[in-house]
Amino acid sequence: MAKNKVNNWQIRREMFYPYEEVRPQKQFAAVFDINKCIACQTCTMACKQTWTTGRGQEYMFWNNVESKPYGFYPLAWDVKILEALGAQNWDGDRYSGKTIFEAAPKGQAVEGYLPEDADYAYPNVGEDEPFGEVKKGDYITIPHRVWHFYLPRICNHCTYPACVGACPRKAIYKREEDGIVLVDQKRCRGYRECVRACPYKKVFFNKTTKIAEKCIACYPLIEKGEQTQCIRTCIGRIRLNGWLHLPEKADPSNPMDYLVHIKKVALPLFPQFGLEPNVYYIPPIHVPAPYLRQMFGPGVEQAIKTYKTAQNDETLLGALTVFGSSEFRVSKFRVSKGVVTGYDDKGDELVKVPLKEPVFIRPFHDEKLQVYRHNIT
Ligand code: SF4
Ligand code: SF4
Repeated sequence: MAKNKVNNWQIRREMFYPYEEVRPQKQFAAVFDINKCIACQTCTMACKQTWTTGRGQEYMFWNNVESKPYGFYPLAWDVKILEALGAQNWDGDRYSGKTIFEAAPKGQAVEGYLPEDADYAYPNVGEDEPFGEVKKGDYITIPHRVWHFYLPRICNHCTYPACVGACPRKAIYKREEDGIVLVDQKRCRGYRECVRACPYKKVFFNKTTKIAEKCIACYPLIEKGEQTQCIRTCIGRIRLNGWLHLPEKADPSNPMDYLVHIKKVALPLFPQFGLEPNVYYIPPIHVPAPYLRQMFGPGVEQAIKTYKTAQNDETLLGALTVFGSSEFRVSKFRVSKGVVTGYDDKGDELVKVPLKEPVFIRPFHDEKLQVYRHNIT
């Protein structure tokens, strides 16, 4: 069914997709640094409070944070689609296996599955459960023998959305101006083909209104040059959103391009599915490589190596330091004399952050005030 050949830079090859390749004028993208997420779920609740407090939305988390490897929302979403897709081989950095469009059964646009209602019922199942056992006399090694990590997830506002490809009503569309993927609620008839198709399970069916709903990338904020609710409220300052260009048009002063294309420290989630997702992850440094390779593709070991150089690489440290520094979109950054400056779309200065926070150690005995002080931070 997928007849058109389109170029997918994340898998370094052309692939089949139901529609022709159309790139938006700008593409909404985000980078999440997994190493800093503490699973406080502030992002989840900020999103829930803003967008999904209505009837029929009780079970919906457009943003969720799950513990890997045993946490899922909905239950076993990744295990099920990985199993259905079968072998996923890479030839260097080129994916030689099938994408979910190429693996589609006859007469369907996408290889997918429809979760059961109960699969959404326990969003915290597997929370904080580590992989492996702590044996007597065990000590910490890198990578850790016992590990888990937190995976925050929103809709990826994919370049080749499976939800768009599968909708028989053409009710889902990708905005030309910013690449945000939206459901036209007037056109939707609730067939749930999008829910079946999205491998990340980020479209939801509202049983009260009988139509599909999904993350809208907080477009009213994006249109005003601001960051999304989940990003601006993030306690761990692990997130940043902005515009991402194609690799050949990468702008080194744009933090998205710099982290994704130039330093290659931020990687897409399951690139082998073939959707060219636009949320990128800095992989966790303490997790065994085979698990991470399946999740983020073949660049994962190099990404971790590069990430670890950040303390000696002022520009990389600068790009990571602007995370969470402003509620506005940081479209450009520049590092000079130990300070990173963030700029908006127009080039106006938004924020200045020192790369190293100054430390002041106060004397234990303050002679002037005649007091004793403990230095606690
Ligand atoms: S993550 Fe799923 S819902 Fe979001 S654009 Fe991609 S296919 Fe559609
Ligand atoms: S708010 Fe930030 S740190 Fe907290 S769970 Fe969400 S992504 Fe992780």
